[in-house]
Amino acid sequence: MRIIGLTGGIGSGKSTVSAYLREKKIPVVDADRISRQLTAPGSPLLPAVRILLGEKVFHEDGTLNRQAVADCIFSDRELLRSYEALITEETARRCLEELRQLEAEDRWPAAVLDAPLLFECEMQRYTDENWLVQADPETRIDRVAARDGIARKAICDRMQRQMPDQEKASLADVIIDNSGSLDELYQQIDRLLERMENET
Ligand code: ADP
Repeated sequence: MRIIGLTGGIGSGKSTVSAYLREKKIPVVDADRISRQLTAPGSPLLPAVRILLGEKVFHEDGTLNRQAVADCIFSDRELLRSYEALITEETARRCLEELRQLEAEDRWPAAVLDAPLLFECEMQRYTDENWLVQADPETRIDRVAARDGIARKAICDRMQRQMPDQEKASLADVIIDNSGSLDELYQQIDRLLERMENET
């Protein structure tokens, strides 16, 4: 089973690609879902997160503010390392477990590991190839503003805290350009799937 890592910065269209791949009956392991489960209310890991990062990474209702966590850990190497030991390593471990389960089913020629932090968390060690979804920054800002209704400045700040696209591109095997229409995006995915089918 070929494992494809799928990543992209905020607003690049990664989730759109992931949804399209699911439609094409390719199983997707969603690292975000797994990490959300690990940090859901009642998770035994939450008290340790509170000690490490403080009250500021929690919403008033006691749930984890994932954006505040990202803001915190990606601006401080030490914190990043400690948080990784707590959450991201466990997320990565569970992703690998789900991928192994899919492999054991022995009926999927390919599976996707959808991970916004694929490279940051070095999850590319589990994949055979890595796809990066990219779009020009203005387009990404417009799309996120329309999707989430957040201010442009807040979106720019988030983008600046993420690993730069250039660095991600240097680690990716395939770059999917999502600056155009959805049709153009889907055509690129169709071509990639065709190529994969021809290779197997
Ligand atoms: P990400 O998961 O990378 O943050 P999404 O896949 O959620 O990004 O895409 C951000 C928003 O832009 C969504 O509302 C999505 O429907 C929209 N979108 C994605 N690609 C395109 C496109 N090519 N044309 C128009 N809208 C798009």
